[in-house]
Amino acid sequence: MQNLLARQRTVGGVLEFSGFGVHSGQPVTLTIAPAPADSGFKIQRIFEDGNIVGPVPVHFARVTRTTLCTTIDLGDSVSVATVEHVISALAGLGVDNALLTVNGPECPIIDGSAAPFAEGIMRAGLEIQGKSRRYIKIMRQVLVRNNEASAALEPYNGRLLDLEIDFDSKVIGRQRMIFDWTPRKYFMDVARARTFGFVRDAKILRQAGYALGSSLDNSITVHEDKILNPGGLRYEDEFVRHKLLDAIGDLALCGLPIYGRFRSYKGGHALNALVLHGLFASEANYQVVNAEDLPLGYDALNDMPEGLEVRPYLRSVG
Ligand SMILES: [Zn+2]
Repeated sequence: MQNLLARQRTVGGVLEFSGFGVHSGQPVTLTIAPAPADSGFKIQRIFEDGNIVGPVPVHFARVTRTTLCTTIDLGDSVSVATVEHVISALAGLGVDNALLTVNGPECPIIDGSAAPFAEGIMRAGLEIQGKSRRYIKIMRQVLVRNNEASAALEPYNGRLLDLEIDFDSKVIGRQRMIFDWTPRKYFMDVARARTFGFVRDAKILRQAGYALGSSLDNSITVHEDKILNPGGLRYEDEFVRHKLLDAIGDLALCGLPIYGRFRSYKGGHALNALVLHGLFASEANYQVVNAEDLPLGYDALNDMPEGLEVRPYLRSVG
């Protein structure tokens, strides 16, 4: 008999999120639908005439731009930007398979965190599927650097993220977070952390046609030594928590959950993508293992957020 905690999961129904893109400023609707076992996260774009491009795997090999957000190339000159927060919510809550459909060039930013997506997943619940969950187990260290910034994947018995940032700003400064992943801790400690930016950068970005939809409603805005958002911060160290949220989304782009330790110093989307390229550069760096062979796989998935229903029966999807 297979242990249910070792099996793959998908969302328990179709979820819909409407908002606008942070870069384009245009309205967009994203739906998340259940998907079969072993399909991972896939994304497609639907156009007004009903034409659909995709679905394609949300995979790091398809990432085309990493400076501001994570953009997935769907082929036929079609792409979808800002996938990292919704993917973070799915991976963070322990979802293995889902089909994303977007009717515009980027996912909605909503409040700049992963909380709206995570809350939607909470409402739909999760469905356990018929196949074992698989992990990418790190077998030897992979380290990438860019000047003083670095990112590493290392062998470790568990799923740990150790992240440090250091900004030349009094309201951010040096912040470190060590996160021992479980879905409950993700929901409580990570999902609500919002993206952030500096007023000085926003002006330059807007002139270049980016961040047209960014506002105090969807990002923490720092000006000199002040936070401009009237409500202040959601967590005292919300900045490093958002970097962690991003890293969870970025690392999920390797197609399977990673079993090991991730360390990052002054990192971001570009270094996160680079460390995945480094990981897959040699087959000696990793092994694909079944959850049954990892005792922690059971324990971490046992720790679900209160109120998230995990249904142990198969319905429409395999
Ligand atoms: Zn982000």
